[in-house]
Amino acid sequence: MTRTLSINDSQRLQLAPLEMPTRLLLGPGPSNAHPAVLQAMNTPPVGHLDPAFLVLMDEIQSLLRYVWQTENLLTIAVSGTGTAAMEATIANATEPGDVVLVGVNGYFGNRLVDMAGRYGADVRTLRKPWGQIFTLDELRTALEQHRPAILALVHAETSTGARQLLEGVGDLCREFGCLLLVDTVTSLGGVPLFLDAWGVDLAYSCSQKGLGCPPGASPFTISPRAMEKLQQRRTKVANWYLDMSLLGKYWGSDRTYHHTAPINLYYALREALRLVAEEGLANCWQRHQRNVEYLWEGLEDLGLTLHVEREFRLPTLTTVRIPEGVDGKAITRQLLNEYGIEIGGGLGELAGQAWRIGLMGFNSRQESVDQLLEALRQVLPK
Ligand SMILES: *Cc1c(COP(=O)(O)O)cnc(C)c1O
Repeated sequence: MTRTLSINDSQRLQLAPLEMPTRLLLGPGPSNAHPAVLQAMNTPPVGHLDPAFLVLMDEIQSLLRYVWQTENLLTIAVSGTGTAAMEATIANATEPGDVVLVGVNGYFGNRLVDMAGRYGADVRTLRKPWGQIFTLDELRTALEQHRPAILALVHAETSTGARQLLEGVGDLCREFGCLLLVDTVTSLGGVPLFLDAWGVDLAYSCSQKGLGCPPGASPFTISPRAMEKLQQRRTKVANWYLDMSLLGKYWGSDRTYHHTAPINLYYALREALRLVAEEGLANCWQRHQRNVEYLWEGLEDLGLTLHVEREFRLPTLTTVRIPEGVDGKAITRQLLNEYGIEIGGGLGELAGQAWRIGLMGFNSRQESVDQLLEALRQVLPK
């Protein structure tokens, strides 16, 4: 007979019910979920083909169109984190051999490069130092040179805190007959974003940053122009789970079983989106801007220097230079252990050089800024 594997009795008896510390999450994500969102998530689940759930899916779609300012029919939530929605975008939009031009001015540009390469794209890059953005002239020159099928840009580079300006980029892409793919993971809900007006063809985001929801259900949208490319593919999408021709049937009128939706996460996402709609998108953007300016002022009063030029700074994420002689990691550890506040360290080129402070969704509040500034005042060397 086979013996069942088990943990021994003393271990079993020692395991207490789950208890986690309370944190104020002011890093690059996740951010704290809104209490009403957590409450919605606690609703007992129904089946993923229950008529009531199908209504909820429709509501998620319309709310996503609103927060993204798009009329794209195929606007859905991918089951998975932002990276899954990113992969869905790349997997569906690229065919082997497609030239994909990626603007790399931070960590997530590099992730796009890696992903597109895995789907067989002929990847070209346009590079800028971390913290800077691409001008229309630079993009035009690169499009002339590479003639890509897709131009991929990161709207809000969470690794640097810089905002890529997108006005005019869609027109440029139309002039060169390419699709515009944009990472809006750290901008959706917190940074002004007009997908249709800016001519964005493919975009993805996440739930746990600007939308104030737990991670796991991630917005994805595709324009009619990009849809045409998808319908004319010569090859199948090389990822079954994320293939929009299959997923679209579950979200569309067919309602064909594809996978079991993470029901409770969709409850949470609907509530998070509903809260944005209730506040009003423009008010939500203004709140993020107001609170981040208050943060910048407070940080500068503490004698700290911000990494990105003011004009291009994100309202959702601020990079702060670690002062000479200060142990950046020791400070983040102290903030977490003694004050229950999480902030992020630098990534890639900015590793060891910067802290990353996020004010996203529910956390974009004056109280969270005050709490952080007070803690920093205590822990920073005088
Ligand atoms: C967080 C983030 C991602 C990845 O999202 P996950 O939810 O962590 O998978 C992608 N792009 C950007 C710009 C991000 O900030």
